[in-house]
Amino acid sequence: MSNRRNFIKNSLLTTASLSIGSSLSAADLDFKKRKAKHWIWTRPNPKDSEAELYERYAAYAAAGVRGVLFEDDSEKHFRAAKKMKLEAHRWNWTMNKGVKTLMEQHPEWYAISREGKSVIDHPPYVGYYRWLCPSKPEVQAYLKQEAEQILSKDYIDGLHLDYIRFCDVILPLNLWKNYNLVQQQELPAYDFCYCSTCRAEYKKISGKDPLDLPYPDGVLSWRLFRYNAINKVVNQLAEVANRHKKWITAAVFPTPEVARRIVRQDWTNWNLDAVFPMIYHKFYQEDVKWIGDAVTEGVHFLAGKFPLYAGLYLPDFDSMEELKTGIELSMANGAAGVSLFGNVTPEVLATLKSTQFA
Ligand SMILES: [Zn+2]
Repeated sequence: MSNRRNFIKNSLLTTASLSIGSSLSAADLDFKKRKAKHWIWTRPNPKDSEAELYERYAAYAAAGVRGVLFEDDSEKHFRAAKKMKLEAHRWNWTMNKGVKTLMEQHPEWYAISREGKSVIDHPPYVGYYRWLCPSKPEVQAYLKQEAEQILSKDYIDGLHLDYIRFCDVILPLNLWKNYNLVQQQELPAYDFCYCSTCRAEYKKISGKDPLDLPYPDGVLSWRLFRYNAINKVVNQLAEVANRHKKWITAAVFPTPEVARRIVRQDWTNWNLDAVFPMIYHKFYQEDVKWIGDAVTEGVHFLAGKFPLYAGLYLPDFDSMEELKTGIELSMANGAAGVSLFGNVTPEVLATLKSTQFA
């Protein structure tokens, strides 16, 4: 258990350094007093009344929830959460950016597959997959400006990055049947980015055009080039968050190995304040026990760099007993808390509260 103790020590240090001069300090003190450690992912519904929100967020706080990650900007929701002593963070789709005006004004900012097709005309898998190319300086500048605009708001405590990766070159196992695909190798239609910028940049360092590689999925430097492209974007956004003395976190694929292999996400090398791997066991046709394995891998490779909150997908649990096991396995293997996605019912909150580490 010494790893776990070290992890706790490290995460306390992170929290302590965060509170100095941070606008979070009031909420920070409160969650520490409450020993709150969990998170909820949610999309704010404009129809919610303030009275409903106060009741909901008070129940979250009482169950050990530290903060809410909101998928949209809604001052009403953010302020209500803060009033109930929760942190309120903005959950933002980052590289997958289906913004109509942006696609019209800057189609050249978007990613190109190994087939030479743009996500503008040929979104892979689903119509809402519109990936930006991370290598373009204009894209990096746009994302920094977007982060700046989000973090400038006084009611937003932090930026939570989602879709901060390339398109899935391989889908999670359970989704293959949905698309009638067998992805035992990287298929050109789902392999990105082969735009002129990425090709030229990789050629500068390797002397080769990635389109000329006979087996691009086996070329380690071409894989690394793409990990580094996303790493650079994240670390630029982290600088923006640091300037605002606010947290930057990310929702990522479940383990460092899976994340690099299927979405080119090298998240243990990011300058985050915390990471939220989506340990959605049924997506990978695994049982609840695997949640503990995934947390163990993530915590091991982070080596105390920042805390890990295990993302749990509520529809994947067949009972509250199973959910309780998932939460306890996360905590026992070194997670700082869990983050829940799905329908947060009173039973779910009671389960959260009942876990032995809550
Ligand atoms: Zn590119």
